[in-house]
Amino acid sequence: MKISVLSLFPEILKGFFESSIMKRAVEKGLISYDLVNIRDFATDRHHKCDDEVYGGGAGMLMMPAPLGRALEASGARSRFEAPASAPDPAPMPAPESGEAAEGGAASGRSPRTIFLTPSGRPLNQAMARDFAAEDHLILVCGHYEGIDQRIIDAYVDDEVSIGDYVLSSGEVAALVLVDAVYRLVPGVIKGESLAEESFSAHAGGASAGEGAGSEPPVLEGGASGPCLLEYPQYTRPADYGRMKVPDVLSSGHHAKIVRWRLKEQLRKTLAYRPELLAKGGLPEEALKLLREISTEGGDT
Ligand code: SAM
Repeated sequence: MKISVLSLFPEILKGFFESSIMKRAVEKGLISYDLVNIRDFATDRHHKCDDEVYGGGAGMLMMPAPLGRALEASGARSRFEAPASAPDPAPMPAPESGEAAEGGAASGRSPRTIFLTPSGRPLNQAMARDFAAEDHLILVCGHYEGIDQRIIDAYVDDEVSIGDYVLSSGEVAALVLVDAVYRLVPGVIKGESLAEESFSAHAGGASAGEGAGSEPPVLEGGASGPCLLEYPQYTRPADYGRMKVPDVLSSGHHAKIVRWRLKEQLRKTLAYRPELLAKGGLPEEALKLLREISTEGGDT
């Protein structure tokens, strides 16, 4: 997968792409990236990229022409015959990152262009899975009051928000999206590490039934079906201050561990994200555990 991020401040993004799991994914050739400085596509001598908002109001807006040119140079194509970036084309500057690879468009599929904005569709795991199947993502980071609507109309496929709050610019939001997406690209992270995470379709791990060795209760549905938050996890030491690891986890009794984990997933989901349970589709065992939780009060 190729990821192009268009920004007025690409230096904010650089460290992420050069560190940790992303660094390894790039080295392995699983991910390639361009950090594109939109300012490089401004044609005046001050590299101006913002202007006042038509109709009045506080703040400045990112101008369409430099951003349109940056998008075209990254492989995005306008939906309209004359690209919004047509006038006054600037020469294409080299991408900021020396590690940028060919990638992406090699398959012939068009890039998917995403604008990060608080007024977009809230990002979730199902969207991350969907984006992870693309060959080339182009992410647009806004600044000031945001970007000119004509750029959205001409180039943007998805407007995505990372939550109901307003950040000062889109770089951190873009990194949130990149992080949620690239780890789902096959080969970046071991499949089994992803299988039982929060929001995965398999919730609860193996069977919550009494008999050891029973099959996992697969909560089918993924995007539309039930997804639970992850259960609590512990590592050594077994005794940390006065806080002990729950006995069941070192009992060696697989079925009991699985049942405990599913119950804790349900408890946490009920407390923090009850709307996830309202989707329905929970297996009978989970419904039974929910009934147990509701009779327990708040102290177990
Ligand atoms: N005027 C915009 C509004 O009220 O919706 C806010 C603009 S914000 C100050 C500047 C940029 O930060 C946005 O264009 C967007 O790229 C980014 N941004 C801020 N909050 C965001 C969020 N919750 N999700 C995604 N991007 C966000």
